[in-house]
Amino acid sequence: MTRIIDKVVLVTGASSGIGEATARELATAGARLFIGARRGDRLKALADELGETVAWRELDVTDGADFDAFVEAAEARFGRVDVLVNNAGVMPLSPLAALKRDEWKWMIDVNIHGVLNGIAAVLPCFVAQQTGHVINVASVAAHLVLPTAAVYCGTKHAVRAITEGLRQEHDEIRSTLISPGVTATELGSDITDPAVAAALKDWRRKSLTPDAIARTIRYAIEQPDGVDINEVIVRPTAADM
Ligand code: NDP
Repeated sequence: MTRIIDKVVLVTGASSGIGEATARELATAGARLFIGARRGDRLKALADELGETVAWRELDVTDGADFDAFVEAAEARFGRVDVLVNNAGVMPLSPLAALKRDEWKWMIDVNIHGVLNGIAAVLPCFVAQQTGHVINVASVAAHLVLPTAAVYCGTKHAVRAITEGLRQEHDEIRSTLISPGVTATELGSDITDPAVAAALKDWRRKSLTPDAIARTIRYAIEQPDGVDINEVIVRPTAADM
């Protein structure tokens, strides 16, 4: 296979949706991949299918020590780490008045602390090697606010700010924010409010398939080291939001 992307890329949330599609896209481009998520059975099946350039390890992004061990395992397997795709996320939407404090905390833990844990796990290595690339998957929710999505939007606005902060602090590290519009994945299967779950079905009538986001991630990685794609919003052409 022609190695179009001669890099070691780590992808979180690769057990479904955008992360899985990204693993498929980057494997086709020849990247060596280390993929993580909690559902190891799905990761194993994907790695078995994609071949020996793809390795996996179970990962809970909310656990900083687990993320450090994930990055160490990738270094042990492939000898280096070039790119981290912080893609794992959850979206249990609800109106604020429902007071679903546990779900607020869960979103903040996965969507914000998960991204920070990833940055902390790769930053010393990227600084030492004077090169590296952090790609954070945010959302159109990083650019707008909608009822029932206040906390989710808050987490994605935070990811946008953190990504820009990383860019400003590190000349040697590329930082990219990818903001998908509505995409047909398992996201939202954790919504416990029946009215919001029904609304999500309606939003999904106009949606991208996850390979559209995967191609955008590949595009950002493929640029020369001196070119940093900072922010991309990708929506279905007919999108309402
Ligand atoms: P999916 O639900 O299909 O994928 C989410 C992934 O995150 C799964 O692989 C899941 O794996 C993983 N994940 C969740 N919690 C954890 C955790 N604690 N530790 C490790 N992995 C975790 O949804 P998408 O593919 O759509 O979501 C990917 C990203 O795209 C998210 O950040 C989401 O916010 C963002 N996004 C999605 C949009 C959409 O419309 N689909 C629109 C805009 C942004 P597992 O359960 O095995 O741990």
